[in-house]
Amino acid sequence: MALYKDDRYLVKTDEDAFDFLHRPADTAPFSGIYRCEGCRREVASNEGDPLPPQNHHQHDEALGDILWRLVVYADHDPK
Ligand SMILES: [Zn+2]
Repeated sequence: MALYKDDRYLVKTDEDAFDFLHRPADTAPFSGIYRCEGCRREVASNEGDPLPPQNHHQHDEALGDILWRLVVYADHDPK
């Protein structure tokens, strides 16, 4: 589970970006923290870079395919 200390720096949102599942090595749509839906491992990826590949981490096959979900993204254009 992603952690934070000061909630002034995070905002809850219902944006669709958090609803999509991405396959290993897909292009990261945002810079941020992604979580494997099967084993809950979290990684940081930069926008435009490939998400971690299939062999990135120990992932029990019983947990299903590795699928990455965006859980927090960095705001590059604060208003
Ligand atoms: Zn995993």
